[in-house]
Amino acid sequence: MRRMKPLAAHPLTATQIAAITALLGSAHLRTPQDLAALDPGIDPHNFGACLLVRPGSTAEVAAILAYCHAERIAVVPQGGRTGLSGGAITQRGQIAVSLERLDRIEVLDADQRSAVVGAGVKLGVLAARAATVGLSPGIDLGARDSATLGGLVSTNAGGNEAFRYGTMRERVLGLECVLADGTVITELGQVRKRNEGLAVERLLIGAEGTLGIVTRVALELVPARSPVATAMVALTSLTQAVALARHLRTPALVALEIMSGNHALAVVRSLGLIELAPLAAHPWLVLVEVEATSDEQAESLLVDLLGSASEQELLTDALLAQSETQRHAMWRVREDWAVDRERPGGLWYDISVPLSAMADYVARVIARVEALGASLEVFVIGHLADGNLHVTVNAPYPVSERYEAIAPLVTDELTALGGSFSAEHGIGVEKQATLLRLVSPAKLALMRSVKRAYDPHGIMNPGKVLPTESTAPSAG
Ligand SMILES: Cc1cc2nc3c(=O)[nH]c(=O)nc-3n(C[C@H](O)[C@H](O)[C@H](O)COP(=O)(O)OP(=O)(O)OC[C@H]3O[C@@H](n4cnc5c(N)ncnc54)[C@H](O)[C@@H]3O)c2cc1C
Repeated sequence: MRRMKPLAAHPLTATQIAAITALLGSAHLRTPQDLAALDPGIDPHNFGACLLVRPGSTAEVAAILAYCHAERIAVVPQGGRTGLSGGAITQRGQIAVSLERLDRIEVLDADQRSAVVGAGVKLGVLAARAATVGLSPGIDLGARDSATLGGLVSTNAGGNEAFRYGTMRERVLGLECVLADGTVITELGQVRKRNEGLAVERLLIGAEGTLGIVTRVALELVPARSPVATAMVALTSLTQAVALARHLRTPALVALEIMSGNHALAVVRSLGLIELAPLAAHPWLVLVEVEATSDEQAESLLVDLLGSASEQELLTDALLAQSETQRHAMWRVREDWAVDRERPGGLWYDISVPLSAMADYVARVIARVEALGASLEVFVIGHLADGNLHVTVNAPYPVSERYEAIAPLVTDELTALGGSFSAEHGIGVEKQATLLRLVSPAKLALMRSVKRAYDPHGIMNPGKVLPTESTAPSAG
């Protein structure tokens, strides 16, 4: 072991900027002055880098990484900058590599039900193209119009359809990626069955840019949705919601999203969705969608399912969407974050828990958090069908600095329950302390070994997922 050459903590030298400009051309470089005029995405710190580069090909990505590897310059890959764990934030002395120009849908194969796309293709764009041949990416989430396939792969994103089709790890057939030293690995097979030794490229799924840069993705597609019927259902308790989930779990179910009443009430008030206000007055709400071969059949199926649920006292009230506008309003209640606007500086925990343990777990979390102070309030939204909840804690004043203090109250019993402290948003910087606390030393040691093998100088997204190492194996 020997001490690594420290990563550049100062702005790049004029020589380094000239070398990078020569690799890409000045049209595709952004200085801090340029960045100040652009939208940094979900986190203002995404644009803290001293340079943002926009390569237009895998070869250019490889050239940048080879140079940064030699010069020990830290690199942060960026897609749509919608990530919620701080994985794309940058600081002085780092280069942000935006994959936005790798935006080609190269293959859309209706027979094989697969696509090969550049890492910068936005999810919504792929979904629209796939729909033209009756297919869908099999993943959907609120940030669909900004999030990129490279970002989705790198965070192992989940979303609304993961209970049917899995997270990105299940959607990916193959990848092309560039490792820290510029080595290109191209494994873009579009078949499910491919046993060709260790699938080394697949370690980049969920690696959050710490092992290399994803440049192309081969994805398995699924049949596009049939017509759907949508309803918002009011419930008295989470126990009732879990029982309802069991009742609705048929092949026709395409969405099952949960909200606590206080979240729904905040959105309804903020957006003036008056007709949903009576439902939002209940302790819990579930948004349910089923599909069938026609609108009429979907509606009749949903009416039957909710009718039998009502007979078994699995719900308190329900409203069927009668138009696309009403359906859109119901989804806004689920996807809007009015609580954050009303009480900024809240805390987000992204957990998953088996349905059988969910109600008691949430009750314990609420009791533990509220015991810390009457002004702290817990709000819950999430993907009920796969037990993924976003537990947020807000107060009339910012509480961001209490993330670490409150985290154990939310996360530390999850492993024993068979759940996870990190469901779908990744570790980034936000969950790093929790990762170090809850993951076994053996797993952490193996993660560090993998990091050194893929990125011996530690240039790839340093400080994300794992803390930056002060020592590393000899670079030779
Ligand atoms: C309104 C909203 C709703 C959301 N809903 C969901 C949801 O339901 N489910 C869910 O899972 N997430 C959700 N997210 C989070 C976010 O959309 C996902 O994490 C998404 O996968 C991030 O993609 P991106 O292109 O924006 O990546 P970025 O935010 O740009 O980057 C995220 C991470 O991936 C790395 N990265 C990006 N591109 C590459 C690449 N090509 N190669 C290597 N590393 C790369 C970055 O370094 C960073 O660590 C939501 C976000 C918002 C704002």
